[in-house]
Amino acid sequence: MWLMSENIKGRVYDIQGYSVHDGPGIRTTVFLMGCPLTCLWCHSPESQNYDFQLSWFDMRCIGTVKCGLCINVCPNSALYEREPEKSLIDNSTITKINIDRSKCDNCLACTKVCPANALVPSGYDISLEDVFKRIIKDKKYYGKDGGVTISGGEPMEQFEFTYAIAKRCKESNLTVCVDTTGFAPGENYEKILPYVDLFLFDLKHMDPKRSRNFVGVDNELILENAKLIAKNGGKLQIRIPTIPKLNASMENMMKTADFCKDLGDAVTMIQLLPYHNMGTTKYLRIGLNYKLVNVDPPSDEEMQSYLDLMLSYDLPAQIH
Ligand code: SF4
Ligand code: SF4
Repeated sequence: MWLMSENIKGRVYDIQGYSVHDGPGIRTTVFLMGCPLTCLWCHSPESQNYDFQLSWFDMRCIGTVKCGLCINVCPNSALYEREPEKSLIDNSTITKINIDRSKCDNCLACTKVCPANALVPSGYDISLEDVFKRIIKDKKYYGKDGGVTISGGEPMEQFEFTYAIAKRCKESNLTVCVDTTGFAPGENYEKILPYVDLFLFDLKHMDPKRSRNFVGVDNELILENAKLIAKNGGKLQIRIPTIPKLNASMENMMKTADFCKDLGDAVTMIQLLPYHNMGTTKYLRIGLNYKLVNVDPPSDEEMQSYLDLMLSYDLPAQIH
């Protein structure tokens, strides 16, 4: 039997209550840090690194006249005053800071002195016990369909922690979803399967070369794991982020439909997720540039054509 430490801790970037987009019903979603993929459209870039990074919330800074503490503690002189500007709150003049990311080594010293939470680490460590307390606090909202979703990042990267949360929740009669890229050792999917009601499983591209170009890894392991979960009696909600110029084509959707058809009854739903670029400010917060600036969301007609295709295969499908 596989043994697990009771005092286990994990690294999360957020725990979100009342979530309605991460599986059936109303759920609490635990977002873990660390992901082996580098999807060009990633909506949570702060989750890609397991290591903490410096996050910057410009609006919260109270200015160097009232504060300025961060500049004094930075060991690398990466923080400096920028030109005075009008405050959006009361129209007074305020002098905020800038970060020279080329000098910043993410030591996080500035986050420990910032009184306004303008400079914060991208995540935090938390024990299994504290995650579970947070989950139980929301239990009254779950109803018949809702429960807990373990997401990321890629939650299977912190496998021991993800396994521990899933087991603890299942043993407390909560329903458990794991939101996964599918890129993790197959044996770990087999281990966790008894404690998971539904895998929210991303299928991003059926072509191995394009998969490498768009998400940074080959799709072979991902497709093998979808088959493995189906073969072992697991349930899959397939999620397809639908991104013009990248994976939104009839050819890719037909290949995806063929693949899903072969997974049989394991597939409870195929969700087509229209691309949007609302998360781009998150990139600026951690000092990165968003790469898909020239990609627009797909039209309603285009999304409908992909939905019609899935339905023509007699697959359960929806635009989400
Ligand atoms: S995290 Fe970066 S900006 Fe902040 S104190 Fe460390 S080096 Fe300076
Ligand atoms: S410590 Fe925080 S509030 Fe103070 S100047 Fe720096 S960023 Fe602004």
